[in-house]
Amino acid sequence: MEDCVFCKIIKGEIPSEKVYEDEEVLAFKDIQPAAPIHILVIPKKHIANLLEVQEEDSYLISHIYQVINKIAKKLEIEKEGFRVIVNCGKDAGQEVMHVHFHMLAGRKLGAKIVG
Ligand code: AMP
Ligand code: ZN
Repeated sequence: MEDCVFCKIIKGEIPSEKVYEDEEVLAFKDIQPAAPIHILVIPKKHIANLLEVQEEDSYLISHIYQVINKIAKKLEIEKEGFRVIVNCGKDAGQEVMHVHFHMLAGRKLGAKIVG
């Protein structure tokens, strides 16, 4: 999508600090980290949010969780733990309309459900 910030990151038009990449998925550091480790994991396919995920995307979503698993081990946060958040829509505060999985780690994350 032309005006999508994350599509621009995928195309290399906007720089990012990549932590993982394969043919379907990209993971990079959040520009405004909410924890010592804050990674965004995104599909390269433009999907606006969770409501736009189709049955045919099942493999992709499952693959994203495998990538999250790999990143957790690569960054050695698997023992201390981490949190995965997907914001969808206005009340959740979704700002970028390209589905993304936040990985937060590196400190005690407090309340089990934020807000
Ligand atoms: P959300 O509020 O769930 O839509 O999250 C969007 C996230 O994208 C925020 O945590 C932003 O800090 C992050 N973000 C926006 N632009 C960039 C960028 N160019 N590089 C890295 N992270 C970004
Ligand atoms: Zn996009």
